[in-house]
Amino acid sequence: MDFKDHITVVEDFPHEGISFKDITTLMENGKVYRQAIDEMVTFAKNRGVDVVVGPEARGFVVGCPVSYALEAGFVPVRKVGKLPREVLEVDYGLEYGKDSLNIHKDSIKPGQKVLITDDLLATGGTIQATISMVEELGGVVVGVAFLIELSFLEGRKNLQKYDVYSLVTY
Ligand code: IMP
Repeated sequence: MDFKDHITVVEDFPHEGISFKDITTLMENGKVYRQAIDEMVTFAKNRGVDVVVGPEARGFVVGCPVSYALEAGFVPVRKVGKLPREVLEVDYGLEYGKDSLNIHKDSIKPGQKVLITDDLLATGGTIQATISMVEELGGVVVGVAFLIELSFLEGRKNLQKYDVYSLVTY
C-alpha cells in the first residue's frame, strides 16, 4: 500500500510557500485509514502502553483509534481554555510567535507508559511541548508515532531520546 497515493498535497496552504499535507483524503477511505492506524498499532504494541496522548485536533484522529486497538487510555492535549479541570500549561514556538497547550494535571500517573501521537512531524515543536508536559506529570514516553514526517525540517533531531515512528516521509 502506498499511503502517499491517499494524501493530498496542497501547495501554498495555509500560506504561500507551504506544501500542505492533507490527510482528510486518506481518512475518507475506510480501508486505507484502518490500515494506516494498524501500522501505528504494530509499532506501539508490546510496549506496555497505558495511555496514548495526542494534541488537538489531528492528534485525536490518529491517537484515539490507536488507543482503542491497544485497549489503552487516551489523554487529550488541548489549546488553552478547553479543558475544564486543573491543567498544566506549556508555551511553544511557532513559525511566527508562540502558542500554549494544556493537559489535565491528574491525567497521567507517575510511571505510566505513554505513546505520543500526531498526524505530522514538522519541526517537532508541538510534540516536544506535549512530551514535556507528559514527563512533568511523571509519564514515561515509550514511543512517538506519526502518519507523516517532513524529514527536511529535521524534527526527528529534537526527538533523539525517543523511539520515533512515521508511516510516510516527505
Ligand atoms: P511542528 O510543531 O512544527 O512539528 O508542526 C506539527 C504540527 O503542525 C502538527 O500538529 C500538524 O498537525 C501541523 N502541520 C504542520 N504542517 C502540516 C501539514 O503540511 N499538514 C498537516 N498538518 C501540518
